Amino acid sequence: MFSKKTITDVDVKGKRVLVRVDFNVPLKDGVVGDDTRIRGALPTIHYLLDHGAAVILCSHLGRPKGTADPKYSMKPVAEYLGSLMGQQVAFAADCVGPAAEEAAKALKPGDVLVLENTRYHNEEEANDPEFSRQLASLAELYVNDAFGSAHRAHASTEGVTKYLPGVSGFLMEKEIQYLGQAIDDPKRPFVAILGGAKISDKIGVIKNLLTKADNILIGGGMANTFFKAQGYPVADSLVEDEALETARELLAIGGTKLRLPVDVVIADKYEEGAAFRVMPMGPIPDGWRILDVGPETVESFGKVIASAGTVVWNGPMGVFEFPNFAKGTFGVAKAVAESKAVSVIGGGDSVSAIQKSGLTDKITHISTGGGASLEMLEGLVLPGVAALQDK
Ligand code: AMP
Repeated sequence: MFSKKTITDVDVKGKRVLVRVDFNVPLKDGVVGDDTRIRGALPTIHYLLDHGAAVILCSHLGRPKGTADPKYSMKPVAEYLGSLMGQQVAFAADCVGPAAEEAAKALKPGDVLVLENTRYHNEEEANDPEFSRQLASLAELYVNDAFGSAHRAHASTEGVTKYLPGVSGFLMEKEIQYLGQAIDDPKRPFVAILGGAKISDKIGVIKNLLTKADNILIGGGMANTFFKAQGYPVADSLVEDEALETARELLAIGGTKLRLPVDVVIADKYEEGAAFRVMPMGPIPDGWRILDVGPETVESFGKVIASAGTVVWNGPMGVFEFPNFAKGTFGVAKAVAESKAVSVIGGGDSVSAIQKSGLTDKITHISTGGGASLEMLEGLVLPGVAALQDK
């Protein structure tokens, strides 16, 4: 159960509400690309407006590193939101100080204001108390709906709650409920699929999931370090030698729970047009590297996924950016979509594989937060959630 207060537990009428959203969306020449995160925040925004609040939205966008770099301005996002909502959305050229204060003061119930990028100030990531206080001073209530940033203790995700009562938005609540239930009260068998480049990023996740999941299917570059730990020569494959000892330990603890690819696609170069072939897992020939899982692996992982009660997936099975090495990732995406299991997908690459396959509506929950969902899978407490008021 979600133990934090949400916007339905507090009176918002007539209040100015500062909402931390995750509007860190792809922007190209001022045009918003994938708008999933913006749409994800709409239920919270509409609820607040419908219940008589004025809404002040703040977010980071990209990595402007403490400077007012126009490339990372929230202005196009504010305009996009206005067109999505069909209503006027005001914009303040700074998230604190006179510009923000005047714009906030002018708000009436039903109004929406978007503040400029919080990361134009280094104080945001430093979780600076004075900056947090200034942000908080714009409103009478704080709502965190930015699941994708909840694993960071920054001023707009954590510090601000020292100066304003903080509750959860609907998106945050939904994310925590789906992921929390998948991990702590899963319909069994509970199958986790992990991929991506590096094992070192996911050691904590594997350790935690070994105590919770019935099977962990490993693909992507991270499988290579396990292969090397098992004694296979992996030639030019991506390997993390410093993680070999840990990989051996995980294999020993994991036993048959931990499943590695049985066949792989190898390439003579790390390039889109590289020569490639499928081989059963074994010593990789000199000069070659593993860039994807093979068809037998897709089939055997697919069987495990088909009989699962719960599936959690994070990370691609191969270098899916190159079409010749994307079959493993798309094959797994299809298996997850076809499975009757409760399915939860996190991480930009796995989510984009599902979207590209047109299978989004077959998935129970697609998370808007890669890093945050990984930290939940690791069993960590998210500081942005911990800081909110308990029910
Ligand atoms: P991550 O951010 O850790 O989820 O890793 C995603 C990246 O892993 C993608 O850009 C993939 O291209 C990369 N990746 C997946 N499999 C491999 C592989 N076998 N060798 C090298 N990179 C890989």
